Amino acid sequence: MTSDLSIRFFGTSSAVPTKERGLSCLAVFFGNSTAFFDCGEGSQRSVIKAGLGFNKDCNIFITHMHGDHVVGLLGILQTMAMNRREKPVGVFGPKKIVEFIKANREALNFGLTFDVLVREVRPGLIYDEPSSKYRVYAERSEHSTLSFAYLFEEKEKPGRFHPEKAAKLGIPEGPLWSKLQHGEEVQSPKTGRTIRPDQVVEHPRKGRRIGISGDTRPTKLLEKFFRGCEVLIFDSTYSDEHEANAKENLHSTSREAATLARKARVRRLILTHFSARYRSVSHLVRQAREVFPNTIAAKDFLVYEVEERS
Ligand SMILES: [Zn+2]
Repeated sequence: MTSDLSIRFFGTSSAVPTKERGLSCLAVFFGNSTAFFDCGEGSQRSVIKAGLGFNKDCNIFITHMHGDHVVGLLGILQTMAMNRREKPVGVFGPKKIVEFIKANREALNFGLTFDVLVREVRPGLIYDEPSSKYRVYAERSEHSTLSFAYLFEEKEKPGRFHPEKAAKLGIPEGPLWSKLQHGEEVQSPKTGRTIRPDQVVEHPRKGRRIGISGDTRPTKLLEKFFRGCEVLIFDSTYSDEHEANAKENLHSTSREAATLARKARVRRLILTHFSARYRSVSHLVRQAREVFPNTIAAKDFLVYEVEERS
C-alpha cells in the first residue's frame, strides 16, 4: 500500500558526486506538498529523472552553507520560474542563505515569477503555517560550519468522534456535537449533565516524524531532538576504519549513526551521505546493524514510504 507520506532520495553522496550517487538532496512528499532538505548541484535533474516536477506547494530547508548542499537551489528556482510558477516558495537555512540568494539573483540577473520567502533558521519551531499539514523544527548540529538538523512532523490528527456515544449521553446532532469535536464541554439537554469531549472523542493521534541530520557528529543534543522518530536519516559518511576521518571532518560513521538511533529509540534508520571512496556501502550497513538492526542505506531514487503509526 502506498502511503501519503514518503521520502525520496535524489542525492546520497558526500562532497563529490559519483556515477551512482548525486550530491545531497532528499524530499518529503506529503499530500500536495513537498519539503526539500538540501539541494546539491544536479538536484533538479534527479527530480526530473524520477518523473517529478516542481509545481507543488514547496519549502526548501538547507542544513548548511556548503556548496554540495546548496548550489542546486539556484537551478530549482530558475526552473520554477521558467515554468511560470506563481505559488511562493519558502527557503530556510543558516544566516548566509539570505545573502546567497540575494547575491546570486543579482549576479545572474534572474527574475522570478513567484515570491521566495527566505528565512534564517534558529533552533526551535521554524515552520508552522495554519494551512499546512506539517511543521518543521530545527536544532544545531555539529559540523565545520553553522549547521542545522531538521525534524519534519506531521500535525496531529483529531481523534475519532463517536456519534453513537454522543447520542447515548443525550446529545443531539448539531452544534453541540461540533462543540465536543472542538474540545468544549457541553451540557446534555436531556439529562442536564456536563459531557466532556473525552467521553465521545478519542485522543488526537500523534503525527509521524522524520529526522534529517545533515552533516554532523553524533551529539547528545541531536539524540534528544530525534527521540522517538519514525524515521531518522543520518550522516553516515564513513565506515569503522575511517573513524578518525569522521572525527576530523565532523561527520559520522555508520556505527555512530546507529548508536545515536538506538539511544534515541527511533524506529528506522536510513544511512546517507556516503564518502565517494566506497564503491559499495554494504559494510557500512553491516557495521550499523550490529548496533541498530533496523537500518538501511539510502541510494539515489530510493522511495521510502512512511507508514501510519500503529
Ligand atoms: Zn556534505
